[in-house]
Amino acid sequence: MYKMIVCPHCNTINKANLEKLATTDANCGKCSAQLRANITDISSDKLQKIIQHAQLPVVVDAYASWCGPCKMYTPLFEQVAQELKTQADFFKLNTENNHSFSSQYNIRGVPTTLIFYQKKLVFNQSGVLDKKNLQQIVIDSAKKI
Ligand SMILES: [Zn+2]
Repeated sequence: MYKMIVCPHCNTINKANLEKLATTDANCGKCSAQLRANITDISSDKLQKIIQHAQLPVVVDAYASWCGPCKMYTPLFEQVAQELKTQADFFKLNTENNHSFSSQYNIRGVPTTLIFYQKKLVFNQSGVLDKKNLQQIVIDSAKKI
């Protein structure tokens, strides 16, 4: 199994082996910068590529910089991303820079949590989710198909 990690240095999408990641840091295939399994902020173009190649569920926090509840949601989302890092890929997407994404997925409010699994949208809900709820949804998303 591999995890999709966007290189913080050159912005290339990498497929990092999960077993390898557990013991050492992986390096970017293009620029060999160290890859860490942190959440990256990505564009909708990049996200579409990730959805096409991901093995794990892809969990997206669609947010806006002006949105108060988004700021509350961020630390919670990051905690769940850390706890479930071997079970899903987590990303953030700024809706202000990605208008086509918002219309494509009918996003009416922020934050919105979206989950893609095996190239399909399996979850799409606006509003702040509580931590337990988000964990459960992520775990369940891999069983949906
Ligand atoms: Zn790189």
